[in-house]
Amino acid sequence: MHAHANGVNRPLQVAVVGAGPAGIHASANLSRLAPGARIDLFERLPVPFGLVRYGVSPDHPRIEKISDALHAVLADSGVRLLCNVEIGVDITVGELRDSYDAVIVATGALRDAPLELPGIDLPGSFGAADFVSWYDGHPDVSTAWPLDAESVAVIGAGNVALDVTRMLVKHAHTLAETDVSDNVYEGFAANPIRDVHLFARRGPADVRFSPIELRELGNQYDVDLVVNPADLEPDPHLDRMTRQFTPVRHVVETMREWARIPASRRTASRRVHLHFHQAPAALLGGDAVGSLRTEIMTPDGYGHVVGSGVHVEHEVQAVYRAIGYACTPVPGVPFDHSTRTVPHIEGAVVDGAGTPVPGLYTTGWIKRGPVGLIESTKSDARRTVETLLETAVPGSRARAGGQVIDRLLRDRGVRPIGWDGWLRVDSAERERGDARGRERVRIVGRDELIAAATRAPARRYTAAAGRARPES
Ligand SMILES: Cc1cc2nc3c(=O)[nH]c(=O)nc-3n(C[C@H](O)[C@H](O)[C@H](O)COP(=O)(O)OP(=O)(O)OC[C@H]3O[C@@H](n4cnc5c(N)ncnc54)[C@H](O)[C@@H]3O)c2cc1C
Repeated sequence: MHAHANGVNRPLQVAVVGAGPAGIHASANLSRLAPGARIDLFERLPVPFGLVRYGVSPDHPRIEKISDALHAVLADSGVRLLCNVEIGVDITVGELRDSYDAVIVATGALRDAPLELPGIDLPGSFGAADFVSWYDGHPDVSTAWPLDAESVAVIGAGNVALDVTRMLVKHAHTLAETDVSDNVYEGFAANPIRDVHLFARRGPADVRFSPIELRELGNQYDVDLVVNPADLEPDPHLDRMTRQFTPVRHVVETMREWARIPASRRTASRRVHLHFHQAPAALLGGDAVGSLRTEIMTPDGYGHVVGSGVHVEHEVQAVYRAIGYACTPVPGVPFDHSTRTVPHIEGAVVDGAGTPVPGLYTTGWIKRGPVGLIESTKSDARRTVETLLETAVPGSRARAGGQVIDRLLRDRGVRPIGWDGWLRVDSAERERGDARGRERVRIVGRDELIAAATRAPARRYTAAAGRARPES
């Protein structure tokens, strides 16, 4: 309970926008640290979990566990889930601020950061976020994806570039145990790919690959890694970086192992080629991508590079850019267009002049920018919630909370999907999986998800039992 300004106690009412890991952890933290608080968690998609469901690759076995953990966090929290409600479209931020004591913005990131390059709009040029959304069955993207290139370039030197590269060279049967939907499985089964060329602007000591994710690339079925040993020869910068930073040492060791493999032992039908010190310069082609032009970059010995003016052309039929995700502004919430994040002090949103906006808070990727693992959303959410509890005092007038919002949603013909709806989707996906000896098969398409969420009687999944059981 929070002390009301006139001395009367009433529960704190909070709206959280975005049911990704940040929004879920913020909601759970609030319900734990402010017992009795009424928390409404809004999500624009018909199902929760954000990029844990629609970003993390399906071949990561731990993904199911992360989703289950978030499921358990929500199940135990007493938080009211309202999926299928887009804030800024169905309900405004102003309406939320009028109805709740505090609003936490946790809307994450969905799109690719823009890359200005000649030819970037040619057919055959793709953003990683769109490809990831397709293979993860995001409800807002088409179920078809043109996997028809034999030779592909991937631009980027982070874990998403690794995800995209790994998924591109994957043989479909290695996805058989995962939760990918049928259309995605069939798309990969027809993939004629032979070569993926991964381009990094800087050298092997300056990539942002996690050592484990990089190693995973070398463990793929029927895939060879091709690395130029010259790129890994000792130099003062490489030596300094590998001495100072253990992850860099592991990354470089892995690449050196690959570089030592003699060409005669490369017999796989698919190959990944790692190219360093090459920056994309243009995508070339008439009606569609036919090649990627890169510029050779010269290292300065301190990890920076400058263009050499020398260009190379690589024949490819598709180019994937994995240069980072971008956060999108939410109408009614201050946004810093230079950092593409919501400006804040310790999670309290501030306006352009740096003045806190009363009752508005933020957490997750929209607060910090689109970098960092799921685990880091936990501590981040906790910090925001602590700030909220220190500063959000219920106003002098009683806020009507969710009731007003429920009425607005009804009047506007918006039908939120609650926790029971997610349980129905969860159980329908597990039943699909059961039928094929898999843990789960995803439902794709907004309409299909909404139908599954509203149709069958809900069953509750218990992690301990490992199976769905009818709701009691
Ligand atoms: C391709 C990719 C792979 C990744 N793989 C891993 C991995 O293997 N391991 C790992 O630890 N981390 C991984 N990450 C990072 C991880 O996904 C993020 O750290 C985490 O999801 C960020 O959480 P978030 O809640 O801030 O944002 P998000 O997960 O983006 O969640 C935001 C939610 O807000 C919703 N939303 C947006 N706008 C609105 C609105 N206007 N109204 C209502 N709802 C809205 C969105 O639909 C979404 O559900 C990966 C990220 C990407 C992009």
